[in-house]
This record gives sequence, structure tokens and C-alpha cells, in this order.
Amino acid sequence: MKNLKTINQETIKVTNQKKIIQLLYREKQLTKLRISQAINVSIPTVISNVKDLIKEGYLDETEVGESSGGRKPVIVRFLPNCRYSFGILITKEQVRIILTNLNFSIIVEKIINITDKVADFNNIIIEIKKEINNIISINDIPLYKILGIGFSLPGTVNEEELILKNAPNLKLKNICFKNFERDFPVPIFIENEANASAYAEAFINFNYVKSSLVFISITEGIGTGIIITDNVYKGFNKRAGEFGHMTIMKDGKQCNCGKKGCWELYASKKALLDEYKTAYNIKNNSLKDFMEMSKTDNKAKKILNTYLEFLAEGIKNIILILDPGCIIIDGEISEYKSLIETELIDKIFKQNDFYDKKECNVSFSNLEGNASILGAAFLPMRKLFFLDKKVI
Ligand SMILES: [Zn+2]
Repeated sequence: MKNLKTINQETIKVTNQKKIIQLLYREKQLTKLRISQAINVSIPTVISNVKDLIKEGYLDETEVGESSGGRKPVIVRFLPNCRYSFGILITKEQVRIILTNLNFSIIVEKIINITDKVADFNNIIIEIKKEINNIISINDIPLYKILGIGFSLPGTVNEEELILKNAPNLKLKNICFKNFERDFPVPIFIENEANASAYAEAFINFNYVKSSLVFISITEGIGTGIIITDNVYKGFNKRAGEFGHMTIMKDGKQCNCGKKGCWELYASKKALLDEYKTAYNIKNNSLKDFMEMSKTDNKAKKILNTYLEFLAEGIKNIILILDPGCIIIDGEISEYKSLIETELIDKIFKQNDFYDKKECNVSFSNLEGNASILGAAFLPMRKLFFLDKKVI
């Protein structure tokens, strides 16, 4: 049996190595002196850990730049292609599979359209397995280089037990992904899609305000993911962040959840398009048509203004409850950022006694619709990058 001292030393070693990997992911390359200053450990400790990480393939070192007479400075570089991860996004219409490296560059992408033939969930899993095995063999990737497969799912999940508890859109309940583990050559991870997106936003293109953020996905409904100190906040019963169903209008419209006046009935993409449809008495419509019309047509302008007021109202509540460093909005609506951003921000930060623009950065996702799937690919990497896998 290992004694306590050995275990502690090993824990410290792992912790230091994760700190070094995370730092170099963000900075790409640094000298050992800079690493030692940044993570506050001695240079001999950095040298020993960097040596181990080079052996495992995560880093390399090279001489660069001009020396001032003596030896040229040596920099340590992060090698993003040393490991890979699969991200899978399942929606009602399709399954999207990506393979990324540790820099979140998408190396391979496959789409499986959900037809009647694959509509059964077990068949969907069989199709995914086939695609994954194909990708691995065509690209000739050794299994040890694949950290795992992350699933981003439209529903409530217990990520520790690998259970998809309820996904109303997919008509799935209590699906245990542990049963699928033997079908796949590498470990499986699952997460709710808004939480996965929140991880992606917080980690990729990191900046310090993003360690406290709320991700708002505006689609048919509204999904939100909350990051507090680099971790997704799930709540006691793992259902925190159902902001789409907070009451924005007492005795308002009837929601599928059983309540009335939920935020998503007024601020989702569907809510906006429903208003448009009713006002112009049309059946088929697209957000693109509406946004185009709102540039010139007064009635459409008014609909957009009311919509933005409801959207702002909900965001104001979120800011008051959580005081996040930033709020990131995603969904098709973010493609019209230039049309709505200024007005939305003005409405959110209208004169009030609590907060102003400088204290919470409200912006639109710049992951180009990939937040959720990149978040899925991030799940197997968490162990590599993070000191603590605990989900709060
Ligand atoms: Zn509701």
C-alpha cells in the first residue's frame, strides 16, 4: 500500500502538470521561467514536470529568438495534435459527429440524418458507433490518443451516472449511456446541450470574466447554462438554469411545462416568429425574412422592439440573481447581432441602481453555431485540463 506521503506527492505532481497544460493551452508557448512565475512553483519543479509532459507527447521545447550573447532562450510549446476528442450533438433531425484536436480545430465532421430507418435510439447509437470506428480507422489514430466521446443532449442529464433523464424533443426518458459504453472503443461522457455550450464558451478563447458566465441559447425554447468558477452550476437536483421557464408574465401564455407566462414563450425564436406570423397572417416564415423586413417596416420594427424588451427583462433577472461576469447569447438570432445588439444592451442596462454595462459583458457567441458540439468534445478533455472534476 502506498503511504499517504507518496499519494500526496503524486497528487501535487498531477495538479502541477494540469496547471502547466492549461496554461500552455491558453498561452501556446512560454519559457520555463514564465511558467514557473505564472503557476507559482519552483523552476526545478517546472523542469521535471515539463520533462514528463514531453515524454507523454503533450509538449515539446525549442530554441527561439535572439540570444543576448549566451544560450538562445528555450520555449516550451503546447502540441494540440497530441490527443483527440469526439463531440456528438443529437437533435431531433440529425446527429452531428466531430473529431477535434486539443485546440478545438474540427478535423473530421459527419452528419447522420435521422430518418425512419434510424429513428429508434438503439439504431442511432449503432450508426454513431459505425461512423466513429470509420473515422478512427480512416485517419489511423491510435486509441490512446483519443480521450473519449462527449455527447451533447437536449434534455436533463445525470452526467455522473451517464443517464439521459428526460429529453422531451427526442421523446426519450431514462436512457443509460453506460449500456452503450461497451459498444465504443473509448470512454463516454454526456451533458445537457446548454451546459456543454457554456463549457465551450468558458474554456475556448478563455478570458477571466468567462469563469463566471451564463450562456443563453435561443431556439424553439430558451436553454441556459451557468458557469461559476470554471464549473457548470447544476443545483441540488441537477436542474438549475431553467431560466426559459421563469415567469415573465403572471397568468400569461400557457406553456408546455404546465406553468403560464414562461420567459421562452415571449423571448424564444419561436415566440418572435409566432408574433410575426400572426401580425402578417402568414403561415411560413423565416427569421431571415422577418429581420430583413424589420429594417424598413414599422409594424415589424414594433414586433422586434417588444421581443427585445422581453429578452432584456429575462436577462435583467439573471443578472440580479447570479451577478455573472458575462452573458453570451447564441442561436440563429445571433446572426443578426448587428441589428439587435445596441438596442438589447440599452434595454438591459437602462438606468437602475444595481449594475451597469461595465459590470457584466453581454455579447453574442462567436463559435459560429458550434458551441454545443465543441462543448461535447470538451467533456473528455476536462480531466486533462482541470484540477477538480467536481461539478457544483
Ligand atoms: Zn414553461
